[in-house]
Amino acid sequence: MLDANENPYGTLNRYPDPYQKELKAEVFSAYGIPTKNTFVGNGSDEVIDLLFRIFCTPKVDKALTFSPSYGMYDVSAAINDIELVKVELNEEFDIDYQSVSELITDPKLKLIIICAPNNPTGNSPNQAVVERIVKSFKGVVLIDEAYGNFSNKKSFTTRIKRFPNLVVSQTMSKAWGLAAARIGFAFANEKIISLLNKVKPPYNISGLNQSAAIECIKSSKNFLQNKARILENKKQLYAELKKIKIVRKVFDSDTNFFLVEFENANKTYNCLAEKNIIVRNRNSLIRNCIRITVGTPLENKLLIQALKSI
Ligand code: PMP
Repeated sequence: MLDANENPYGTLNRYPDPYQKELKAEVFSAYGIPTKNTFVGNGSDEVIDLLFRIFCTPKVDKALTFSPSYGMYDVSAAINDIELVKVELNEEFDIDYQSVSELITDPKLKLIIICAPNNPTGNSPNQAVVERIVKSFKGVVLIDEAYGNFSNKKSFTTRIKRFPNLVVSQTMSKAWGLAAARIGFAFANEKIISLLNKVKPPYNISGLNQSAAIECIKSSKNFLQNKARILENKKQLYAELKKIKIVRKVFDSDTNFFLVEFENANKTYNCLAEKNIIVRNRNSLIRNCIRITVGTPLENKLLIQALKSI
């Protein structure tokens, strides 16, 4: 190995596998999705950014997403100088096909991003509507399933064969508990996967992080156990939140977080912060709403105690 100007000594001296073959083989054994349909990104945030870079011409093309949704879509669109059209979700935070039926015929529109389940609302959009959008749009549709592991809904990965314009992203940062390692996936047809591979930096996933991800998938018993614990904690947190006086509504959630409407979100956020409890204030997006992640039983108990004292 005298080709890459590596140091011949040490244990971390070699560059990692740029195509993460061993990790993709593990993904295949866990998800049954062939390696040729799998891309590994430095978090699924990298997938989002690459799709803007590959499919949208700066200052010319547009992308579309729904609002309220994940903030990184705005950041990536802005960095890549792409206009992001934001279509309001309806009262149930769902997608109305009519709200996009005309917009998706715009020849400048190249990318649609649908977050399913959606962050920060926690619900899953109607799958038939999502599929109708994928079917009728000529450009690429990214379905962001970062929270999909927590949901009972069928993943759109089962539909990548049928729809050549469909990309489904998932992550090891949430249910797999590996946020520090920055491992995200894109599942799509071979053509799109090869474009993602062409544009990504060659060594986008470090050797340490590839090993961590491989180990994590191999010990999938942990994954299942932790997921079951989180879902149990979630049930209890939901019941406790419903009893709090200043809580107006706890929205149904297919994820590991709740969107909660309070009498006064800013006040609640500040009171919790004073007690060193950090939640996400979404008041500017959805009036008086705060997004709260499901924690351990102790963390949830401290949260509930703090909310009771406000
Ligand atoms: N999509 C959604 C909807 C998210 O909430 C997040 C993380 N907050 C991501 C993607 C990015 O995840 P990661 O880059 O850690 O894979």
